[in-house]
Amino acid sequence: MTACTVSRADIDKAIAFHGHTCPGLVIGIRAAELALQRLGRLAPPDMLAITETDMCGVDAIQVLTGCTYGKGNLIHRDLGKMAFSFFDRRDGHGLRVVLKRTSREPAHEDYVRATDRLAEGTATAADRALVAEYRASEQERLLALDLDDMFDVIPVVDGMPRPARILKSLVCEQCGESVMESRTRRFSGRTLCIPCFDAVEQKV
Ligand SMILES: [Zn+2]
Ligand SMILES: [Zn+2]
Repeated sequence: MTACTVSRADIDKAIAFHGHTCPGLVIGIRAAELALQRLGRLAPPDMLAITETDMCGVDAIQVLTGCTYGKGNLIHRDLGKMAFSFFDRRDGHGLRVVLKRTSREPAHEDYVRATDRLAEGTATAADRALVAEYRASEQERLLALDLDDMFDVIPVVDGMPRPARILKSLVCEQCGESVMESRTRRFSGRTLCIPCFDAVEQKV
């Protein structure tokens, strides 16, 4: 059994960046830990991360691996899966890390009802306490879990996406704003940005 080897200082950095601590953040911390173990600590330009979720854990991955949206070495694929891929850009080898379903404790029905009431805005103090207590214990459990019990790891030999090319900007003929060519739409012979395209299309 090997509990989380990420330093307390790095965990605190991830919590500060994310704004709170939660089980989802811990999943991201552990996924980053696994990636750094397998690929080594790469200089940020040499690492590429692809995340299949936009949940809390992505913040931990940004802090711990240095892969960020702004640097272009973090790609979000909106697939709704707790899965993250990491690549060494120098040779393209990498791994896909998928959270095992068995890594999560099935939530107690009292907890599920309490989170429903939290979402509806009708939660009681007891509901809040229950949710906080469950999340805290789930975080501790996930931090103590062996990485082998937490994730399936699939080596990826030839799957690294090509770097994003800098594409030409066009001018939307409706709003006049510049827009990357790959994000334009054509409508009745005019070049439009996506919001303008959606607006004219709805009128038809
Ligand atoms: Zn969170
Ligand atoms: Zn427009």
